[in-house]
Amino acid sequence: MKMDSNNKFINVKGTRDILPEEAVMWRRMEEIIRKNMENYNYKELRLPTFEYTELFRKSTGEDTELVQKQMYTFQDKGGRSLTLKPEGTPPVARMYLQYGLKNKSPLQKFYYIERMFRQEKPQKGRYREFSSYGAEAIGSASAETDAELIKSALDIMDELGIKGIELNINSIGCPKCRVEFIKQLKKFLEPKLDSLCEDCKQRFSTNPLRIMDCKVDKDKLTDAPVPLDYICDDCEMHFSMLKKYLDYLNVHYVVNRKLVRGLDYYTKTVFEFVHSKLGAQDEVGGGGRYDGLIKFMGGEDTPASGYAVGMDRMLLLMPEAPKHKGIDVFVVTLDKESDIIGWKLLSLLREGGFSADKDSLGRSMKAQFREADRQDATWTIIIGEEERERGVVQLKKMETGEQKEVPSDIESIKEEIKC
Ligand SMILES: [Zn+2]
Ligand SMILES: [Zn+2]
Repeated sequence: MKMDSNNKFINVKGTRDILPEEAVMWRRMEEIIRKNMENYNYKELRLPTFEYTELFRKSTGEDTELVQKQMYTFQDKGGRSLTLKPEGTPPVARMYLQYGLKNKSPLQKFYYIERMFRQEKPQKGRYREFSSYGAEAIGSASAETDAELIKSALDIMDELGIKGIELNINSIGCPKCRVEFIKQLKKFLEPKLDSLCEDCKQRFSTNPLRIMDCKVDKDKLTDAPVPLDYICDDCEMHFSMLKKYLDYLNVHYVVNRKLVRGLDYYTKTVFEFVHSKLGAQDEVGGGGRYDGLIKFMGGEDTPASGYAVGMDRMLLLMPEAPKHKGIDVFVVTLDKESDIIGWKLLSLLREGGFSADKDSLGRSMKAQFREADRQDATWTIIIGEEERERGVVQLKKMETGEQKEVPSDIESIKEEIKC
């Protein structure tokens, strides 16, 4: 379907067109994210749109649904396999290693606001090209950092006016204690193996933890063992510290013992933000600790932690759009000669830092005033033959209808409208 019923082109399925009214909301969201992340001393990274496919295969994980089914992978003219980034953590980890960023300081904190691409079924708040913001703290093993990350996301959602977010947390242990858990999980799954979906049959030998995340087999896993019952002392301590830090911050959380994350690299802390308004797939964002990833990608053993939030989903939860901010001045002209003067004045207003516009369609005075209303102008400046001859303009405050005569030089006008 490239065309609509009138034979006009339409946008590609899963992409979204953002019109000016909605763009205001997006800008607001981006500003609040930036402000908060900078307050938390996270530095912005801007990521490339595509990476070598291998990066995601290796770090996100070969047997994840994301890599197996959802990536936009293509071959460029040089025969390289490239993938439009489906998530931010692998590119951030790559940049961290490629530029030796650990040499600058042992703890590096980054955030990004980026477009991501996943070929999944488009549904409410889920698109194939979507926007995420994320934060990554590379170098800290402390639960303090996990709590800080969680709090930064909650602060942002709070400032956006989003109410009713629920925070779920869990610990999925470390590679050491996971051995015993996987053993128990396999013992539980073995008798059910034939009834599991094809992917899970595969995962049973490659990565059984992944099965806990399967949407198809969810009901068969109700009584499955959970990682929390098998975590080692070290992981246990880390998890209780996390809870303590969240308590310090007065952050309300629910321990969801079934929570695992769909990607390979997570260890210890996992968390997600959910909202009942979003329906069955109620996740707004989430993340966790990924202590193994940097080493796995060829770096030194470096603990790390991070999260990502779907901005399209956040937008659904934001209260009513603030109205598009109107312009400062609309210039109304009453005849051809005045129109030229008005046009020059318009340029001076813009140079002077005011948002300003005028009619360029040769419309009547009445239509020009209607346009000034439509543009929600604070002031209109009216210039006609009489004003021209006397070297003045009429300045009208739209809200009150008050009108005043002002000398037509830009300084006098600026003096009047700046207050
Ligand atoms: Zn452990
Ligand atoms: Zn399955």
